[in-house]
Amino acid sequence: MDNSEGMPPASLTHASQSNAQAAGGGRGADGEPSAADNHGGASIHPRLQAVIVVGRYHGLELDATDYKNIDGAPVPSAASLSAWVQSAGLWSRAVRLRWRNLLALQDSGPVILLLNDGSAALLTGADPDQKIVYLKDPQAAESAAPVAVDELRLSEVWGGETLLVRANRGIAEADAPFSMRWLFRLVMTERSTLRDLSIASVAISFLTIMPPLLVMTVINRVLVYHSLTTLAFISVLLTIFVLYETLLGYARRLIIGVLAIRIDAKLNLHIFSRLIRLPLDYFERHPAGDTLHRLHAVYQVREFITGKLLTTFLDFITLLVILPLLFYLSSTLTWLVIASACVLMIVILVFLGPVTAAMGQLIQAEINKATVMTETVFGIRTVKSLALEPQRRALWDERVADAAKWRWRVTLINNWPQTIATPISRFMWMGVMLIGAYMALSDNTGYMVGGLFAFMMLSNRVAQPLVGAAGLTEKYLEVKTSIGLAAEVLNRPMESNAASGGLRPRFAGAITFDDVTFTYPSGQTPALERVSFSIPAGTMLGVVGRSGSGKSTITRLLQGINREYSGFVKLDGSDLREINLRHLRQSFGVVLQDNFLFRGSIRDNIIAGRPGLTIDDVVRAARLAGAEEFIERMPHGYETQIEEGSPNLSGGQKQRLAIARAVITDPRLLILDEATSALDPESEALVNANLLRIARGRTMVIVSHRLSSLTDCDLTLVLDRGGVVDIAPHHVLLERCAIYRQLWAQQNRHLDSQGPRHAAIAPTLAQGD
Ligand code: ATP
Ligand code: MG
Repeated sequence: MDNSEGMPPASLTHASQSNAQAAGGGRGADGEPSAADNHGGASIHPRLQAVIVVGRYHGLELDATDYKNIDGAPVPSAASLSAWVQSAGLWSRAVRLRWRNLLALQDSGPVILLLNDGSAALLTGADPDQKIVYLKDPQAAESAAPVAVDELRLSEVWGGETLLVRANRGIAEADAPFSMRWLFRLVMTERSTLRDLSIASVAISFLTIMPPLLVMTVINRVLVYHSLTTLAFISVLLTIFVLYETLLGYARRLIIGVLAIRIDAKLNLHIFSRLIRLPLDYFERHPAGDTLHRLHAVYQVREFITGKLLTTFLDFITLLVILPLLFYLSSTLTWLVIASACVLMIVILVFLGPVTAAMGQLIQAEINKATVMTETVFGIRTVKSLALEPQRRALWDERVADAAKWRWRVTLINNWPQTIATPISRFMWMGVMLIGAYMALSDNTGYMVGGLFAFMMLSNRVAQPLVGAAGLTEKYLEVKTSIGLAAEVLNRPMESNAASGGLRPRFAGAITFDDVTFTYPSGQTPALERVSFSIPAGTMLGVVGRSGSGKSTITRLLQGINREYSGFVKLDGSDLREINLRHLRQSFGVVLQDNFLFRGSIRDNIIAGRPGLTIDDVVRAARLAGAEEFIERMPHGYETQIEEGSPNLSGGQKQRLAIARAVITDPRLLILDEATSALDPESEALVNANLLRIARGRTMVIVSHRLSSLTDCDLTLVLDRGGVVDIAPHHVLLERCAIYRQLWAQQNRHLDSQGPRHAAIAPTLAQGD
């Protein structure tokens, strides 16, 4: 082995020192926030890089910005790394291995060796015969060949700290479509709880058959033979049984409770994680009320599983225990009971179809109803200010009536099987009693009298599970409908594929649109047609055009919200569709016309949960956004609580907070879409004055109706009906672009007419004085 074979661990040393800071997720030496630094592939700590490479091997794209240093170690520790890997859904263990363990490691995928100097190496293979292992530098190119290392060389740099990573079976489960099968598998993960439950139920079943047997004995022995000692004995037994049954019942209810909570929690996690990965496009095209109602249907499913399904299952266990006893008591009567129960079952099954059909209609009507409610609540400002209350109420009345109609129909249909079942079950009872009495009369042994009592007490438990099973099918169909409703939301294609794969380049900020044509899925005409333009990094680009000309669409394509366009959108020359979606959006700052502020303090809202940011960053961002002045005037400054809908902030203040929230990560690219349109002239002037400062060192795309706020832009893009008309600085456009000139003239007409108007108003005021 020549000297170069020992190289990879040694060469890692240098990388680890220069990058230790980036791994902390903190700040660079120059005091600037270094959140953006974490994005670049080149500056990721070798240990994190090693984990990312192994994650990729297992088909998972990990994000270095998600890594949390949980134990405050100077370099990423095995425990922190393991927690990070596990939170991403892979199996991982931090272990201490010896040389011979390494030789035995085979085909389990790459293993991460945490080297003494704080860096890491990937163990890609081992050769026990030659006594060497193959190592790779995690930061080397994927195609680079591994290097052979022997025990001695490795022991110089590695003390045994190892991170094992494997694919987790759970991932497939989390991504499996939401369906009855998925649900069944979910329930089956609780196998051990179900087993405990079954054991408790069997025990309870045995206990419940005891009282009837005792009654039988009391009648046959005590009453017939006047045996008081037997009575006393039986009383003691009965007490013990009752105590046991009480205890077991308590345990059984606890187990059911635990089961319900566990299934509920798993369902909740699953649903939210799928919901939040749906593309924005989905939420724009579906009313929130509809989505919420559909998701709510899932809870019916949980109720079904831990309610009706479970009780029927447990009743069946009881049935299995008592059926032999019933046959022992009297096979004739048992057959009679079973026959009646079967008739009951058939009755319920016959009505299943109509009930389900009506049920489907009812659920749809309920969704329609819920949509009106949520829309009214979300749009209450518009409803009130346009005095639309009567119209909304009329619509609500109509939906309520519709839902009531279907509910009534369901009730009507549902009433039939129950009506028919009553005489059948009564006749069964009476039949058992009459036939039993007749049999007791003709029975010479005298045992039949007590047996009949016992039988009557137990027979009730035969019909229960059978009727329950029939009802279960009905409920099952209902639940299937609910699952269908929820599945329509949850089983849509998610963004995750785009979010987890792709490049993570470090952006400079050059943007190119190359022959881009895009039509919204629900639109007929293209929103953008053959759009081509190009701007270098660091440009402050204004975008103007009439309403509907495609300005917002351009910003949406840049953010990867819509990706079904033809042509190319390029960032620094790489195709946007190749770039990791999450990375892309984290590198952007976006401010819209209407920004949502979360409930919490101003500081929390500006940080928005992003790691590694401190109050200093918040103050800097607020200053950049021109928000510092009003925040400091607030009673609690940065700790001022923002309430839901932020009623305690003016529009301009909200907007400046949103800008601060966007610039705090120091994004390479900042998009402002009508961010200042809703502001009063003073706030707008304040924000605009800051824009030039904000723009320093980054690319900005500013969409605005007000051309006067874009005169400072390096370039202004003029759009019309989805096409590019021109792109040039303000003064050039004024000279050569007719549409721009026209827009400019429209907006600045007041400058010409100001004099006479003011003159006209002044005398009127004077008169009124
Ligand atoms: P404005 O100045 O009014 O904000 P804009 O220039 O930003 O207008 P866009 O929002 O880009 O215009 O819309 C361009 C075209 O695409 C319009 O004709 C619009 O009807 C259509 N459009 C926009 N958003 C959607 C959507 N989510 N679904 C379908 N069509 C859309
Ligand atoms: Mg717009």
